[in-house]
Amino acid sequence: MVIAEPRIISWLELLIGFDTRNGSGDEVACAKWLAEALQKFAPDSLKLQSVTRSRGKSDSAYVLAVWGMPKILLNVHIDTVPSGEGWTGDPLRLRHENDRYIGLGTSDIKGAAACILAALEQVTPKDVAILFSGDEEHGSEVMPAAIAENDLGDIPHAIVCEPTSCTMGARHRGMLAMSVKFAGPGGHSSLSDITEAPLQKIARFAAKLSDYGDKFKSIGAPEYKGICLNIGEIKSDGAYNVIPTQAIFKFSMRPPPGDGTARHQEAAQAILRGLYPEVVLDVIAALNPFQSRAPEILSSICLGLDPIDLPYWTEAAMLSEAGVNAVVFGPGHVDQAHRPNEYVEGAQLVKAAGVYAAALSGAFL
Ligand SMILES: [Zn+2]
Repeated sequence: MVIAEPRIISWLELLIGFDTRNGSGDEVACAKWLAEALQKFAPDSLKLQSVTRSRGKSDSAYVLAVWGMPKILLNVHIDTVPSGEGWTGDPLRLRHENDRYIGLGTSDIKGAAACILAALEQVTPKDVAILFSGDEEHGSEVMPAAIAENDLGDIPHAIVCEPTSCTMGARHRGMLAMSVKFAGPGGHSSLSDITEAPLQKIARFAAKLSDYGDKFKSIGAPEYKGICLNIGEIKSDGAYNVIPTQAIFKFSMRPPPGDGTARHQEAAQAILRGLYPEVVLDVIAALNPFQSRAPEILSSICLGLDPIDLPYWTEAAMLSEAGVNAVVFGPGHVDQAHRPNEYVEGAQLVKAAGVYAAALSGAFL
């Protein structure tokens, strides 16, 4: 089935107009509007749920629409990254230049939401569920809430929409990000032998952590060797002749598919404990890797494609962990997203809309 591009674009225009920049935008307002939009397509049940977030962020939300006994879930996140510098137009107003539709979230991933809404205008949904959820870009606190509420029930399959250029993603790495902070009285560097040295403590820990990362470099499948240990950030208020009063260290690892974050988190903590027994690491993010349970079952919906590896993390990992057979499929390319003048091509939208329409119609499964 072909979904007309102008119909997709009219939805996309409205979606881009919502400011859902993670942390500063209003994801609840967008979810409410989506609930009203979905209501028009007569779902058997519709749930709009706001979700509180930690780290001082405003509430986010999700909306779940269900038709019949769902065999498949279509999931799209409604938040975007911050727009950043360098846009040549208003990021919240959709522009059309040649074959490109430009706007914040066009490629990641409001384009997919527009495709699904346009497909609903032409398809009678059968045994399918749609989940529009917030807070994917930073924190991912909404998807676990939807899973914990048991709202997804026993839905066996899911397509998680992310920009895959209409290929079928079935694996990706996880993400473990942690930090630690040390403090001391500071002072003149002539006193450094007898003064607490926050930055030196971090240097010792970072060196041992690097050794830990090195051990994995040759281990794993060829496409997923190592754990990508990254000594990302070390900051202090010291100077070569000033003992710092504080120092903070942030690092990350990306465990491969089949691995998990927990054992690396414990290992990092054990290394730190060996040096400074009382100090506890702060977890910034602990997101497990993803390996689709049975991607071949969803291949027929996803244009008969073979599964591919993805270079980025998705919430498919969380659905998979909850027992759902998930793959990642969506219009646009990751290189077009998270940057000024983000865009998606019309042809990509039409292609993806055809796939979502097939899923909505209950075909194949
Ligand atoms: Zn995304």
